[in-house]
Amino acid sequence: MANYNKVITELHETFLTGKTKTYEWRDRQLRQLLKLIEENGKAIEDALFKDLHKHANEAQIMETGMVKNDLINAINSLSDWMKPDMVKKDLLVAMDTCFIQSEPFGVTLILGAWNYPIQLTLLPLIGAIAAGNCAVVKPSELSHYTALVLEDLIPKYLDTECIKVINGAVPETTALLKERFDLIFYTGNNVVAKIVMAAAAKNLTPVILELGGKSPVYIDKNIDYNTVARRLVWGKAINSGQTCIAPDYVLCTTDVQNKIIEEMKKVVNDFYGDPSKSEYYGRIINDRHFERVKSLLKGVNIAIGGNVNEKERLISPTVLKDVKTTDHVMQSEIFGPILPIVTVQNEDEAIEYINSGEKPLALYVFSSNDKIVNKFLSQTSSGGVCVNDTLLHAGIQTLPFGGVGHSGIGGYHGKFSFDVFSHKRSVLKRGLGMEFVNNIRYPPYTEKKMKI
Ligand code: NAD
Repeated sequence: MANYNKVITELHETFLTGKTKTYEWRDRQLRQLLKLIEENGKAIEDALFKDLHKHANEAQIMETGMVKNDLINAINSLSDWMKPDMVKKDLLVAMDTCFIQSEPFGVTLILGAWNYPIQLTLLPLIGAIAAGNCAVVKPSELSHYTALVLEDLIPKYLDTECIKVINGAVPETTALLKERFDLIFYTGNNVVAKIVMAAAAKNLTPVILELGGKSPVYIDKNIDYNTVARRLVWGKAINSGQTCIAPDYVLCTTDVQNKIIEEMKKVVNDFYGDPSKSEYYGRIINDRHFERVKSLLKGVNIAIGGNVNEKERLISPTVLKDVKTTDHVMQSEIFGPILPIVTVQNEDEAIEYINSGEKPLALYVFSSNDKIVNKFLSQTSSGGVCVNDTLLHAGIQTLPFGGVGHSGIGGYHGKFSFDVFSHKRSVLKRGLGMEFVNNIRYPPYTEKKMKI
């Protein structure tokens, strides 16, 4: 088994020199990362195409574009973020200074995911750098070509004394998790998340977990079904459904089910025509995931799609109707281009069903009725919510992106990435004068003192 003790020990030593804490180091690394993205767009897009059949435009919007925006924001905001946060004081410390210092944790480990392998590896790295940490980056081995590009490019642009890329699969991750880190940031499924958390517990290392779950969609009646279908098909079919916040299933009445299926049929055709010939339609990452997703098509009522091509690892955008909550497809996150529809009587039944499961990463409500939208907001819990659209909330830097309960721990993006990679240290600074004021707190606690 690989042994990373030497490399991690060296990173701890480097961190202790204070090199990564300076504004100049952080600013330079962020600018270099921006340069990496700007100068290597083609290599990155080619790798994403080989791994996931991701179209270059989609790669620019969902991967490099998001990373660039986050970097520009971090570069422009860094000096503000690094400033101490002065806090309100009470009478006891009226003459003193009280503030929160954002200090880096130290040596951090970033375990990336394969479905958006650039975004989900580099957005956490931006947070780690901005907050002044050293970092070990472990891209997912499932997105093999992108992992190789990251392994090649990161050392060419970033400070290799402080930032390392380690490629590998389960044995390498297992070996890495034996080392002591000051923070672990993991993106992926919640089975591995428990392994990560158990390993972290040995050293009381804090963890940030970006996980998944079954993200529900509720569609209300009397709505513009064509617009809903466009937004829903986009959010579901992009990256062939391999998106952590992809709509997982739909809840609606039987009448709405019929209408939305009709519209989705048209939209799938408008977007992809024949998906197997479309340059815009993705592929399933590997054979294991292909077999897993394909197996969900057994014994179900297919309303749209359902075509599979094993050689290509292609599963066409598929909608299932009249699905029962006891069906196999409703038992775990689909993470593929299959959208089951479960019919309910009304929004109350939908909310009851959502609340009977684990808290999802995202929740989608399509409704023009504020009362219904507010019911979902007040009576359910999820990592995030997007009303009348899908996925969009994850692209807003001023909103934290993360889960709750089984969908994750901790949110990031924009300033939240800086915060999640910083320890918020309480500092109280006072002078040595006016000692007489403190007499009351010192023993002996005489009656005279207690009367004051
Ligand atoms: P996966 O199960 O195929 O692999 C996950 C990674 O875990 C691999 O890199 C693998 O090496 C590692 N791994 C597997 N077994 C391990 C072990 N015993 N010890 C250490 N490491 C091990 O991929 P996946 O995790 O199923 O990806 C999909 C899941 O990730 C979905 O649930 C999805 O919602 C979630 N996800 C969440 C986000 C987010 O931002 N919240 C983003 C992407 C994916």
